[in-house]
Amino acid sequence: MLRSITALSRAWRPLRSAPRCLHTVYQSVDLPDVHRMLRDTCREFAEKELQPIASQLDREHRYPSEQVQKMGQMGLLSVEVPEDLGGAGLDCLAYAIALEEISRGCASTGVIMSVNNSLYLGPVLKNASEEQKKKWITPFCSGDKIGCFALSEPGNGSDAGAASTVARLDGDEWVLNGTKSWITNAWDASAVVVFATTDKSMKHKGISAFLVEMPTPGLSLGKKEDKLGIRASSTANLIFEDCRIPRENILGQSGMGFKIAMQTLDSGRIGIASQALGIAQAALDCAVDYAEKRIAFGAPITKLQAIQFKLADMALALESARLLTWRAAMLKDNKKPFTKVRGYPSRFLTHCYILPCNNAIQILGGMGYVTEMPAERHYRDARITEIYEGTSEIQRLVIANQLLKEYQH
Ligand SMILES: Cc1cc2nc3c(=O)[nH]c(=O)nc-3n(C[C@H](O)[C@H](O)[C@H](O)COP(=O)(O)OP(=O)(O)OC[C@H]3O[C@@H](n4cnc5c(N)ncnc54)[C@H](O)[C@@H]3O)c2cc1C
Repeated sequence: MLRSITALSRAWRPLRSAPRCLHTVYQSVDLPDVHRMLRDTCREFAEKELQPIASQLDREHRYPSEQVQKMGQMGLLSVEVPEDLGGAGLDCLAYAIALEEISRGCASTGVIMSVNNSLYLGPVLKNASEEQKKKWITPFCSGDKIGCFALSEPGNGSDAGAASTVARLDGDEWVLNGTKSWITNAWDASAVVVFATTDKSMKHKGISAFLVEMPTPGLSLGKKEDKLGIRASSTANLIFEDCRIPRENILGQSGMGFKIAMQTLDSGRIGIASQALGIAQAALDCAVDYAEKRIAFGAPITKLQAIQFKLADMALALESARLLTWRAAMLKDNKKPFTKVRGYPSRFLTHCYILPCNNAIQILGGMGYVTEMPAERHYRDARITEIYEGTSEIQRLVIANQLLKEYQH
């Protein structure tokens, strides 16, 4: 397994120097070789190492530390980080494909991977100084350490510009005070990118981003949230009480925090769409497997038109969502605007992701409703993808704003 990732990295090398318009799903009948190899490797890993334990992890709310470590060695925690910093050096399409496969095996592991790649390493890679990169990137690529991202607060989630956490400069240190809520990976992370107001009068333009080691004096964790789904990933408050960090731990320029957060979420949402795809694909896998074996009225239920229609709807929803997600990833790789397109798969959640999970339960009948089968877990896991990194309502606003701008021009 590990050898094939090394081979993958080697195979990728000559392509990296080629022009950045390598892959368009619309022009080729299949993925480029590198991406297919990556998909196969991730699928094999997910089937062997994640799928068999996903239900137990969910039941026990247990962080999959051994598997996360292996994923680090495979390059899956730092897919888009350049090789010289310890990452896999691949692109956003590769990230979307890998994250779908991992989430197909275990949605919780999918979000752990997504937060480290998109929400932690993403903004650090884009905004850190060369000096900061050595400390805050390389150890977070191997699986030894993972990171988290703290934007939301108890009083504001969608309205992220209203941050009430503050950072005050005192000599050579920033002093942080406030509470961040719903932070994925909080209990398992070794560092956090945290957003705090350095100048209240400037509103969202007075927000800055900081890098904070975990644990650090003055930073404590709230209780682990008891969630509906993705239960193997930890989610908790981060409470800053006169938490002192070195002056040089500011990420980017002072006052750039809101912009950094929005850019991060823009890319992050491609990851969440991929996570949702993986969950919905797992629901379809489970439904087909069950339907082929389940006999009703003397024949497998796959012979029933009602079941066939449901399966067809699920496959159609998934394929449409996959094309939209890959298109957003490819636009990003080709440095083209992708904000509206990446909003589509996220906005389509109800049709593309929730529908397959709902249909899977219906196809399984009573067995869809109990924990013996994974369908109910997929249904619970899928629900969060309509909420985090921007609710479906916020995605709709983003799409509409972009659309209207395009018409105005
Ligand atoms: C499991 C989990 C993990 C998370 N992980 C992280 C993390 O790692 N880091 C982090 O910073 N945050 C994280 N979050 C927070 C998440 O991003 C927020 O919950 C989300 O952005 C919504 O914010 P809110 O909960 O405050 O809801 P609110 O903003 O209070 O929204 C409530 C409702 O009002 C709607 N609404 C709000 N404003 C508008 C508007 N302008 N127009 C139309 N409708 C609107 C919303 O769509 C929603 O339906 C996580 C949340 C969960 C549940």
